[in-house]
Amino acid sequence: MIPYGRQNITKEDIDNVIQVLQSDFLTQGPTVLKFEEAFASYVGTRYAVAVSNGTAALHLSALCLGINEKSRVITTPITFAATANCVRFCGGEVYFADINPETYLLDINNVRALLEEYPKGYFDGIITVDFAGRAVDLEAFRQLADEYGCWIIEDACHAPGGYFEDSLGKVQLCGNNNFADLSVFSFHPVKHIACGEGGMVTTNNPIHYEQLLKLRSHGITKDSEKMTCNDGGWYYEMQELGFNYRLTDFQAVLGLSQLGRAVENLLIRKEIAQRYAVAFNQHEKIIRHSDFIIGHAYHLYIIEINKRKELYDYLKSKEIFCQVHYIPVHQLPYYRSLSSQQIQLEHAENYYSKCLSLPMFPSLSLHDQSYVIESVLSFLSGNF
Ligand SMILES: *Cc1c(COP(=O)(O)O)cnc(C)c1O
Repeated sequence: MIPYGRQNITKEDIDNVIQVLQSDFLTQGPTVLKFEEAFASYVGTRYAVAVSNGTAALHLSALCLGINEKSRVITTPITFAATANCVRFCGGEVYFADINPETYLLDINNVRALLEEYPKGYFDGIITVDFAGRAVDLEAFRQLADEYGCWIIEDACHAPGGYFEDSLGKVQLCGNNNFADLSVFSFHPVKHIACGEGGMVTTNNPIHYEQLLKLRSHGITKDSEKMTCNDGGWYYEMQELGFNYRLTDFQAVLGLSQLGRAVENLLIRKEIAQRYAVAFNQHEKIIRHSDFIIGHAYHLYIIEINKRKELYDYLKSKEIFCQVHYIPVHQLPYYRSLSSQQIQLEHAENYYSKCLSLPMFPSLSLHDQSYVIESVLSFLSGNF
């Protein structure tokens, strides 16, 4: 069977994990720090803090930015629920702005329109999502956010290695924090780098960095320079309400080991995307597809068709397990129950009615991809 996403664990990955299991450190230890430094350098930022999963990374980012019961935050409906949930964890209110139907990303014009509807200061921040691996133009979003005094969290869970070109033609890597205050990544098995469970927050801000370190471990510090007093070698201070969001050293070494193949694997994803693009270009029944786009990290390859459910079932009968990304977050029962009036986001809802994510992962063989393409084309031509 062919899934839509799958981890890729090599003999070297396994050997590296065994080495850590035989070392003195099982939970957070020296390998976590090594992984953080290597990851920060990969995405071109100053600081990286490893945490137990992408959702924890979002939660800590929300706490760093002071989200509380009075906060209002704008995000996209086409994302995993956790993007919005981090605002709710802190009691804040989520506003959804519609996507751009061409890029599937949060549409800056819709965000601007929403900001303009209310007095300045009404909104606290914007959470953008580099959906499917396509980088958001954060230079433009930063300008808009600055006009309205908003912060930006970049949910880059789909996009390590992705980038956009700024107005000067300079490459801006996802998670480099040249524009976003904080960026988050996930190391769930379907993502680019797999730790089993794992996440990362990146930032260029030393204050946020210190906050993240503390919040990931109960709000506790053992740094004598940061404590109000010191009773002795055993002493620590819990200075704020934090969590246990630590990553273990044996997960970190898996991440570190996989990070070593990230560039290579990204190239393979791009080749897979190119083959899909060639196969589906100008097909009359494919309304839109991910296509080949510079800087796209291809976590997902999406096609839009009218008979989506039928195609999904047909591919399933052929042992090809596609997925739908995503059910619009504003339509999930929890979010529906929060708002008194029904929100309508035309582009997101239209996209959801037609989208299907095809198998996309570095170990997808040429043979298996050809089988996927043939199956899709054969469904579309009715020969099944
Ligand atoms: C995977 C994902 C998350 C959550 O990451 P976990 O590691 O599963 O908690 C958040 N946002 C997006 C866009 C994701 O794809």
